[in-house]
Amino acid sequence: ITLADLAGSPGYAPVSEAQAKAGNPETLITERADWEFDGAMARETLQRHFEIASVEGFGLVEEDEPALCAAGALLRYLNELQPGALKHLSRPRLEQMGKTIALDEMTRRNLELVESLRTGDSSGTLLSVLDRTVTPMGARLLRQWILAPLRNRVDIESRLDSVAAFAADSLARGAVRSALDGVRDIERLSAKISAGRSSPRDVRALGDSLSRIPEFAEQLESLSRHHGAIKPLSESCDRCEDLAAEITRTIVNSPPITIGEAATIAAGLDAELDELRQLRDGGKDGIARIQMEERARTGISSLKVGYNRVFGYFIEVTNSNSHLVPSDYQRRQTLTGAERYVTPALKDYEEKILSAAERIEERERAIMEKLRSHIAGQIERLQLLARLIAEADVFATLAEVAEREAYVRPVIEEGFDLEITAGRHPVVERMMPREKFIPNDLFLSPEARLIVLTGPNMAGKSTILRQIGLIVLMAQMGSFVPAAKARVGVVDKVFTRVGASDNLVRGQSTFMVEMSETSAILHTASRSSLVLLDEIGRGTSTYDGVSIAWAVSEHLHNSVGCKTVFATHYHELTQLSDELSSARNFNVQVREVGEKILFLHRLAPGGADRSYGIEVGRLAGLPQPVIARARELLKHLESGHLLESGKGSPPVPDSQSQLPLFDAPALEELRGIDTNAITPLQALEILSRLVEQSKLS
Ligand code: ATP
Repeated sequence: ITLADLAGSPGYAPVSEAQAKAGNPETLITERADWEFDGAMARETLQRHFEIASVEGFGLVEEDEPALCAAGALLRYLNELQPGALKHLSRPRLEQMGKTIALDEMTRRNLELVESLRTGDSSGTLLSVLDRTVTPMGARLLRQWILAPLRNRVDIESRLDSVAAFAADSLARGAVRSALDGVRDIERLSAKISAGRSSPRDVRALGDSLSRIPEFAEQLESLSRHHGAIKPLSESCDRCEDLAAEITRTIVNSPPITIGEAATIAAGLDAELDELRQLRDGGKDGIARIQMEERARTGISSLKVGYNRVFGYFIEVTNSNSHLVPSDYQRRQTLTGAERYVTPALKDYEEKILSAAERIEERERAIMEKLRSHIAGQIERLQLLARLIAEADVFATLAEVAEREAYVRPVIEEGFDLEITAGRHPVVERMMPREKFIPNDLFLSPEARLIVLTGPNMAGKSTILRQIGLIVLMAQMGSFVPAAKARVGVVDKVFTRVGASDNLVRGQSTFMVEMSETSAILHTASRSSLVLLDEIGRGTSTYDGVSIAWAVSEHLHNSVGCKTVFATHYHELTQLSDELSSARNFNVQVREVGEKILFLHRLAPGGADRSYGIEVGRLAGLPQPVIARARELLKHLESGHLLESGKGSPPVPDSQSQLPLFDAPALEELRGIDTNAITPLQALEILSRLVEQSKLS
């Protein structure tokens, strides 16, 4: 199928190469020819690989043809990369697009779900706060759940019920967690084993991990007696005792990485192997016996039986004794002070010992191979068990975190509303003493669906914005949330965009990128989406920026009708609430104490009246004369002096000691500036440039 064929299908969202790269510059794009996506060929590839008569068994219907084509092409591609190593692949499962929220790359990144913007690792991310899993499978699943929250209320409730069960019974939770602690990666180990890439140590590790399952299943069952939500999990738990027994019976406690290095197969399991081992060990004793006998026979007390790789076993006699050597000794090697010989009897022994060692290795290999293919035959059971362990681990983990961090169970609804009471940012609150983080309320409804969030720099706008996104995503992944109460009307998509100026970290600060992201939101958001915009429109001139921000807000409010929170420095946007019936203004409060400002981090209705950029500049250590001058300039600008071209006179510095600042080019530059729209840093740059200029003139 070609892209053109796909364009008509429901849920199709084209991603161009440029877009894919914009989302993640490291994206590697491998082009495949159209014919690789042929439906008939996909059927054949899949049927052959999974040894099935028909792909209909995958639960596909006619409309799923594109998914089938993609699966076929992917399998062909994988086969090219790893020929013959794909036996462990589970059958493909159809993931309904409608089941999870599709989070685009920018949203994942801006919300710092699993990867930190600053460090690129998981520190300071939602994952780092939530991940208290005890198994590798749990850790992987948690990550998956964070990146793909659910859309269906019933599915979400079902996860929340399980978390609630673990939350209600901390004793049982502890027992389940400690039963799982130390269980290795059953999913990967069994995949490795069935692909034939496992060492005896891997197989034994699987056996040891499986040995812990009965205890885990026991604890799960006892929890399920009081909590119905856990019943399905408990009842479907395959204890795999047969496999554990088989493995631990077959392989020694700590086997070597490769067969042959040391004993791999346990003694007493296989009569033939035991016999060979006896022969080999008896054979070694035999060599010592031969040495004794030969010494007695020849009367050479220094005679030695030795071994080297080239000649095998030999009898060594020093030259001083060579006259005592019997006639049946055959000379093999001459050294400086000695001769080396063999006898037919010695050769016989050698033959037996060497062949015993070889045959032991062979036998061990055969037994391992039998065990391996037996395990490979049980791969589906093992993969199911791995999935179940992962789920139990994640449920218990989310309950554990909920208790430690004082999260509550959100109320999930089909409706539109989003109501958060005393919500907190799960990551930021961890970076300060608990009582220091100021919780905030938020209510979005059809009547108040667009919030314009203003407030000074550093007040906490970005924090609140991300906190809203995180709480919604946590709720929909089935986690409790950092709030006193939360009512979440299920959303279908979450978008988070941060204006270019705030996103310099990734070197993507071009206005073009910001606009194409914004355009993607406007095209894909629906009434049920949550759109969080931070400083959109900042990357261009003030008037352009305000106009775009205004129009975007209008479109989201009027045409899309989704829940939107727009954090901005453009005070002009607070006027939106006069024009749009369901737009509301909120601001993050600060209090002025004399000339200083106190950040309250508290959300209150109404727009902020000013930016306090200069105050923040003062906090950042700008020299006092610069601050004083900036205040003076701000007054002039605010009174409209320099905004209308040709009108007003340049402000006169209030101290005669200062040189006139505003020569013609400087004036020109100042005309283009909107102090509400620039950051303190930009203000500082402009000021210091002007100060430099003034010194020159
Ligand atoms: P700017 O407009 O300059 O980008 P902002 O308004 O977006 O700033 P944030 O970056 O959200 O401000 O917050 C600034 C700092 O304030 C945060 O790093 C955090 O330490 C603190 N902060 C934010 N919200 C809270 C809160 N609710 N309680 C306590 N501290 C907070």
